[in-house]
Amino acid sequence: MAGLIKRETVDEVRARARIEEVVGQHVTLKTAGVGSMKGLCPFHDERTASFHVRPHVGRWHCFGCNQGGDVISFIQQIDALSFADAVEYLAGKYGVTVQYEAGSSTRKGMDTGTRARLLDVHRVAAQFYAEQLDTPGAAAGREFLTARSFDREAAETFGVGFAPTGWDNLMRHLRGRGFTEEELTASGLVSQGQRGIYDRFRGRLVWPIRDVTGEVIGFGARKLFDEDQGPKYLNTPETALYKKSQVLYGIDLARRAIAKEKKIVVVEGYTDVMAAHLSGVPYAVATCGTAFGGEHVRVVRRMLGDTSTIGGVQLSGGKSLGGEVIFTFDGDEAGRKAALRAFGEDERFFAQTFVAISPGGMDPCELRMSGGPQAVQSLVSARKPLFEFVIDSIMRSFDLDTAEGRVAAVRDVAPVVASIRDNALRSEYERRVAGHTGMSPREIRTMMQQSSGRQRTAAASSTASPPRLAASPRDPLARLEREMLAAVLQFPESVPAETFDALGSDTFTAAAARSVHDAIRAAGGVGALQEGESAAWVARVINEAPEQIKTVVSELVTVPLPQDRPEGIEDYVRGLVVKVVDVVLTRRIAEERSRLSRMETQGNTEDYQQILQDLLALEQHRRQLRAAM
Ligand SMILES: [Zn+2]
Repeated sequence: MAGLIKRETVDEVRARARIEEVVGQHVTLKTAGVGSMKGLCPFHDERTASFHVRPHVGRWHCFGCNQGGDVISFIQQIDALSFADAVEYLAGKYGVTVQYEAGSSTRKGMDTGTRARLLDVHRVAAQFYAEQLDTPGAAAGREFLTARSFDREAAETFGVGFAPTGWDNLMRHLRGRGFTEEELTASGLVSQGQRGIYDRFRGRLVWPIRDVTGEVIGFGARKLFDEDQGPKYLNTPETALYKKSQVLYGIDLARRAIAKEKKIVVVEGYTDVMAAHLSGVPYAVATCGTAFGGEHVRVVRRMLGDTSTIGGVQLSGGKSLGGEVIFTFDGDEAGRKAALRAFGEDERFFAQTFVAISPGGMDPCELRMSGGPQAVQSLVSARKPLFEFVIDSIMRSFDLDTAEGRVAAVRDVAPVVASIRDNALRSEYERRVAGHTGMSPREIRTMMQQSSGRQRTAAASSTASPPRLAASPRDPLARLEREMLAAVLQFPESVPAETFDALGSDTFTAAAARSVHDAIRAAGGVGALQEGESAAWVARVINEAPEQIKTVVSELVTVPLPQDRPEGIEDYVRGLVVKVVDVVLTRRIAEERSRLSRMETQGNTEDYQQILQDLLALEQHRRQLRAAM
């Protein structure tokens, strides 16, 4: 259905949408050379940033999974949207009016408008719930908030609302706003009964759950009345928008603080997130109706940015350079179990994980009520590295005064310590266990090896190879051609257009380079570049490239270049173009010379004179070129 939207709209969206801003909502980007940014790829699991964005030309490319594209394809992939939906979403965000091809059916159908419509439903529903909080029927809801020290302003910040008792209040409201039954069902805001649909949330306090961009994608609702037979908390079911394995409540408000402070605090409920934010812990989030799992880990990693520096985690109070993920638990035992269960599969994540156990088994909401913001801040700052917490709590559960107790404790703790891949860190924890038991680290190590009973994984090297071109040619000429094309695509406005566009189709020796060059020519050459329109120009080049070459172009557009001073770009690009021209001229001069030498024996004077002229012209051209360098 992509053909429905006018080409002009798509072009305008590409031009107006700021790719670094759009990508930046999902991936923490940092500067990587002139006009280039990088971060952890949201499309594959990685620890070293190989996801590059070049705002200037509006492109992204991952050198890990070799995917790339423009701002529209990024949204398509990250939100699993159709092309049309992605264009509409970005158009809405950047104030572009979407125009449709005449004669094509308008976008009333469910398939094309689904996401935009679903977001609309949620927006209207969130507003409806928020307004209901002021009604007489919502007294219990207001009391609930007041009892937990949340004032009017706090409720507004978090959009807290009230779902009235009754079966169809929201439904009637939404129908009155033109939403169809199909749309209501797809939103998860209604349940299906034998006699039709009815409001899913009734007589409950309601929290809108928003995605990173701040769009409401679901709701969490707490029971208020005794006659309510449902569970204490009820959430939106899985829908096209709401995936509970990825959703983190509060992420929209916490996003900036997480990226800035390199910290994220995971608490357990909606009120805990509110309490934490209101207490000066703005990087708090909570899972919604599910335990923190693998997909949350990926979301968090992306938010924290590059974690390739993990490995030097220190004991007590130490800071992990790769960012901290702090889990709060309201009890030692519960905390240990939850912590160990939650991330057993990911040791690297383990290393940057911290645990904060609240005193007296209070959750952050209760802590704030009893001790004020300071109490919540203290909880977070008293965090311990996960390993330290787990090892200490295991050791505490044994009687270390007896030899039997010590042996049993070491046996219990061995798998935990053995799971630490970082050699330095593991030795540190072995010393810690030794300290607890009064045994020597050597003895501990031997006992651990015996009781863990499995080969320890060889020390994982943390040095991932830097991003490189998928096909990094050995041939210096092919390398020069590639680098020059990359420079031309990344900084087209610095290219001496006349010189470049005069290059013939036989300029390039590598087949892929020739194809890229053909695509540039088909797009009108560098001369067709309009001021300030690099992104549109690159899009045209990609459009002209054959399917298998599109990836090559995408890669060239984002690959880091050796020149990293802005003031040096102009000369750098020019230098590369000139070098390629020089190579071409030199090749042609050699060819002409050998033709001449063949002709001398044949004595064909007319042609001979012509070729000699050409040769002299070529040589003069090359001399001028070199003199200008
Ligand atoms: Zn990737």
